[in-house]
Amino acid sequence: MSNDKNNVPAPANAPSPNFLRAIVENDLAAGTHVRAGLPPVITRFPPEPNGYLHVGHAKSIHVNFGLARDYGGRCHLRFDDTNPEKEDTEYVDTIKDSVKWLGFDWEQDGQSHLYFASDYFEQLYTMAEYLITSGHAYVDSQSAEDMARNRGNFGTPGTNSPFRDRPAAESLALFRAMRAGQFKDGEHILRAKISEDGMASPNMNMRDPAIYRIRHAHHHRTGDAWCIYPMYDYTHPISDALENITHSVCTLEFQDHRPFYDWLLATLAEGGFFKQPVPRQYEFARLNTTYVVTSKRKLRQLVEEGIVSGWDDPRMPTLVGLRRRGFTPDSIKLFCDRTGTSKSDGWIDMSVLEGALRDDLDPKAPRATAVLRPLKLIIDNFPADLSVPCSCPVHPHFPERGERTFPITRELWIEQEDFMEVPSKGYFRFYPPIGDAPGSRVRLRHGYVAECVGYDKDADGKVSAVHVKYFEDSKSGTEGSNAYKVKGNIHWVSAATALEAEVRLYDRLFLDPHPDAGGKDFKTALNPAALEVVTAYLEPGMSAAEPEQRFQFERHGYFVADRVDSAPGKPVFNRVTTLKDSWGK
Ligand code: ATP
Ligand code: MG
Repeated sequence: MSNDKNNVPAPANAPSPNFLRAIVENDLAAGTHVRAGLPPVITRFPPEPNGYLHVGHAKSIHVNFGLARDYGGRCHLRFDDTNPEKEDTEYVDTIKDSVKWLGFDWEQDGQSHLYFASDYFEQLYTMAEYLITSGHAYVDSQSAEDMARNRGNFGTPGTNSPFRDRPAAESLALFRAMRAGQFKDGEHILRAKISEDGMASPNMNMRDPAIYRIRHAHHHRTGDAWCIYPMYDYTHPISDALENITHSVCTLEFQDHRPFYDWLLATLAEGGFFKQPVPRQYEFARLNTTYVVTSKRKLRQLVEEGIVSGWDDPRMPTLVGLRRRGFTPDSIKLFCDRTGTSKSDGWIDMSVLEGALRDDLDPKAPRATAVLRPLKLIIDNFPADLSVPCSCPVHPHFPERGERTFPITRELWIEQEDFMEVPSKGYFRFYPPIGDAPGSRVRLRHGYVAECVGYDKDADGKVSAVHVKYFEDSKSGTEGSNAYKVKGNIHWVSAATALEAEVRLYDRLFLDPHPDAGGKDFKTALNPAALEVVTAYLEPGMSAAEPEQRFQFERHGYFVADRVDSAPGKPVFNRVTTLKDSWGK
């Protein structure tokens, strides 16, 4: 890259180039946004505090905070709180938590860059009065039905409102009366008046869009101070300009809103409210992930109907849900990097996120033994009072991380699937003697080789215990062990010292990659096996697991100590994902 030549700082650990980075690099090279006392790149992440953030928002956070981080700028966290009925401080708090959890901060050089659109209500109002007096806005008093009809349709021009040419002084007086609370909701509305053929514009968003409406509603921050509220399309560009945003990055569905964004800021710059260059809007394709729904309405439905246990249920695609499930901030970063930033919409398979988690955790996560579906194994020739220490590395590729130790005793827990009464072809784990043939020989990993000699059944005919004999000279790590060649190698925990734990085996919440496509009822696609709770036996050292600590349970996958229900000594584990993708097949 020609960064040096253009005197642009090369980003540290630069993710792959994309069109947004190219735009920013060009602007830096051209000095587009050189302003005294301000960094040359200021972005923002502008959530509406009306719900919990989801994996799609993580993408936007990474794009916006990532640009600021990589180009020596800053990113603002701005709450777009102009819909009083739907918004709440609860959402403000969780959104702040999630942004921090992902590893980003709106505080920089001792200064906070946390903003609320509602802090701009007075300025937004002043600018609206300016638009009225300068002939760029008018109060419309049509009924809602007339207004909708007169907007026309895509391909059909609209019809001017009979109030469009009402004198500015009359609009101003009405607008002030709107603010003073003299009208009911919907009686009047303030609309932009963009050009003489505004209602004929091929772009619906340019047909005199509403910029203020009457709402007698309590706001989570401004209380009852206002009964008129600015519309999103009006608030957003102005908030950007007030905060000196340079690159206002949003998703593609706002492309058609850009002409209004530009018109509004140019008009207000003419009026002396802003200096050029004003912020510019850039759009990228939103992140669509298979096997989830992200619509706030549908997520709320899952919570309210008790289909999941809450917003942070580990099966939810919310950031609080992904966190509780065990996904790491680094895995989400990797996912956002790998899925790229482009201008064309597409679907990203859930397996990409799961793969990112495996790649993140494989080198990091300590290994541990867990028996999830226990079956008793009795070593008949092992003295009942004997306990022999066994050990293995915490991580097979990083011996410097030390060893874990656990004892082997006469009674062990093994997985039910590691024994078959009648072995299938190619089955190398435990099976009993058949006819003259002896039972199978299997290595009890990190312990001894043992040979199956029989098994017990309970009254229901279910296998209740497996009997083996062990070979004292076959201990792993000793010279004698090499004399034993076995094909099976299974994990186990000592029944005497095992830690009993609740393990929640999570899987995808939906069976259909597109649960809500084409207006389908997404609830018909729910995966009945998305949660299975088992009582498992873990190696004794796991009693020290701290909430949110992650492990690879050998042969099973990646697990996390649940951040809500887990306590030292009494852990509850969630399966984040299995070791291999079983969905792609
Ligand atoms: P809604 O507008 O329906 O309430 P929203 O998902 O757009 O929901 P916002 O709070 O407005 O919620 O989103 C904040 C920011 O996150 C916006 O800039 C939006 O473009 C971005 N965003 C939301 N969903 C995605 C997604 N799936 N991929 C990328 N960015 C997204
Ligand atoms: Mg939105």
